Amino acid sequence: MPHTGYCGRFAPSPTGELHFGSLVAALASWLRARNLQGRWLLRVDDIDPPRAVPGSTEAILAALARLGLIADAPALHQSERGEAYAQALLQLQRGGHAFPCWCSRTDLEAAGAVHRDGRCIAPRRDDREPAWRLRVPDGEIAFDDGLQGPQRQDVREAVGDFVLRRADGLWSYQLACVVDDAFQDITEVVRGCDLLDSTPRQVLLQRLLGLPTPAYIHLPLAVDAEGRKLSKSSDAPPVDAHEPHAALARALRFLGQEVPATADPAAMLHAAAARFDISALRGVTARVAGPPA
Ligand code: GLU
Repeated sequence: MPHTGYCGRFAPSPTGELHFGSLVAALASWLRARNLQGRWLLRVDDIDPPRAVPGSTEAILAALARLGLIADAPALHQSERGEAYAQALLQLQRGGHAFPCWCSRTDLEAAGAVHRDGRCIAPRRDDREPAWRLRVPDGEIAFDDGLQGPQRQDVREAVGDFVLRRADGLWSYQLACVVDDAFQDITEVVRGCDLLDSTPRQVLLQRLLGLPTPAYIHLPLAVDAEGRKLSKSSDAPPVDAHEPHAALARALRFLGQEVPATADPAAMLHAAAARFDISALRGVTARVAGPPA
């Protein structure tokens, strides 16, 4: 089927099985892409081996397939993208936007826990690899979120000179995400509100790297009745992808969508995509997830 220039994506971290909060992001990004006759891609954010749970990449991809959320290309794995991140870091270093940092946690705490001097405050060490930080410029980064409205953040004030590559060689999510969103030609990012405050850092990196800025839609976070995030780290059970109809219906209700009257999950997705509209969620940053069935 010919597609428009729209390209969306879902980017799970392999830190456990697919949970309801992730399903909401996966489903909303899929529905939005299909509603706009665009493409939908997957990216596995497996850049943090210490936090990865063995087998969870396979479990998440299998659950998505079982639910009928099929991507238009094989998933991109961040663990295989080190070369591209190194190139981006080199570009930032050459442009004078990155500096090596040997600060320990104690040095940082002494400096008020936020690094914003544009240089390392600890002595240089030739016996240890440094971390690399972005020299964050003054000024606000503004963008318009499709659901949460106009956003602005003074990145230097809010987070300071953030890490691009850790001293142990691990790449930061911010850098990897920006490089890969551009590589996959993503035109719109649909994800949870827990990442809203990462977005100004990502927009800043896009500008410094000369990459396009996609549109952003930050969805309400799924919370329990006490307002706690239903996340992979809480003990909320994983989505039961063997019951696709029930799982998709619950996520559709969460997204304020009518649940199409069909027992067939594929037909349900098709109908839901045709009339997908999340304007009722404008300005909503958290929502209580309804019961599973
Ligand atoms: N991998 C991230 C997460 O699961 C999401 C990244 C993104 O959508 O930008 O929280």
